[in-house]
Amino acid sequence: MVFPPAPLETIGWNKLGLSIQDSVNGHVESKYSVATGEWSEPEFVADPYLRVHGLAPALNYGQQAYEGLKAHRGPDGNILLYRAEAHADRMAVSASYVSIPEIPRAHWLKCVKLAVARNAEWVAPHSSEALLYIRPLVFGSSGHLSLTAPTEYTFAVYCQPGTTYHGVQPLPACVIEDFDRAAPRGTGGAKVGGNYAPVIRHTDRARAQGFHVTLHLDAQTRTCIEEFSTSGFIGIKKIGESVLVVVPDSKNIVQSITSDSCLELARSYGWKVEKREIPWSECKFFDEVIAVGTAASLLPIKLLARPSTGEKFVYGETVGECTLKLATGLRNIMRGKIADEFGWVSVVEEKDLLLPVVEKAPLTNGVNGELNGAVYGNSDNLTNGNGIHLPAEVQVEA
Ligand SMILES: *Cc1c(COP(=O)(O)O)cnc(C)c1O
Repeated sequence: MVFPPAPLETIGWNKLGLSIQDSVNGHVESKYSVATGEWSEPEFVADPYLRVHGLAPALNYGQQAYEGLKAHRGPDGNILLYRAEAHADRMAVSASYVSIPEIPRAHWLKCVKLAVARNAEWVAPHSSEALLYIRPLVFGSSGHLSLTAPTEYTFAVYCQPGTTYHGVQPLPACVIEDFDRAAPRGTGGAKVGGNYAPVIRHTDRARAQGFHVTLHLDAQTRTCIEEFSTSGFIGIKKIGESVLVVVPDSKNIVQSITSDSCLELARSYGWKVEKREIPWSECKFFDEVIAVGTAASLLPIKLLARPSTGEKFVYGETVGECTLKLATGLRNIMRGKIADEFGWVSVVEEKDLLLPVVEKAPLTNGVNGELNGAVYGNSDNLTNGNGIHLPAEVQVEA
């Protein structure tokens, strides 16, 4: 068999946006049982729906954590996963905030690679602007009313094709002032669902006022930058020929892997990097501000507005040169266009399909009739979680 398969030919890859494609091949599920203390072998389920008890703590108490990462197709047609280990480690941190047992890194990677490998034809052509967005989520899934640990947890991995727009026009952002996303010593550092739903009505209101991006200040003093609602904050100052990149250092923000990548790139360009408190008042001195995250990539900020004070710091209508250099550098690594000197990219391989190994028909080799190895192949008992037989995906090699 040839892995990976070519991208589907019937998809308008550059027009996907964020709409949900239920026609992808399926998702991965693995369950943790408190009784055994183990995560089950991953199963590929040819269906977007989950069967979850309605009294599961995930639905009632928000016992849930998630991740978001990406895969792209390289110039040779291979599928490249971006910084999967870092996302595995961050999910372990998020899960610990909401008392969910850790998913061992190797198991996490196995489940994520399985989801990508089985949806490989949904990874867009190298030439397109599209990517495969991967959404791992973990939650308490057994029916359980008391505020104690349930007996079962589910880890699921979904894949969705999507499009990002490289070099988008800068967007206006505003500070949200009548709501705090995260309290000091709270859960702001975790990618847990409960941090996001309360923000929706505030971002909706800001968007209605023309602000596409929203910024949160620290809850305790309202004087320092924390992060944008779904992405990290980067400020850039140019002093003559030298460039200074500043990112907030706070326990109440999600540690952005995109931001970390930008800092590493910046260092490699010989730029200066500072991770520290950023007073709101410093924002007027930045030459470029970027909102950074896996989904949005690098989104240049046109202006930062603070309605209560009337302040408005303007960075301009065009993409700044430092933003463009970082965005291009990152994009080239993710898409395999340039050498990955950081070790961030891993290739999804045929073995990640986890297809059962079947033994080849015995070939007498004239000596002792040994089997000459094993190959991946179809198995009649390869079913999905609903007992539905999966389509024959591979041919047994002759
Ligand atoms: C996911 C997320 C980010 C960005 O993290 P990346 O690893 O860069 O995708 C930043 N802030 C918040 C609130 C997030 O949820």
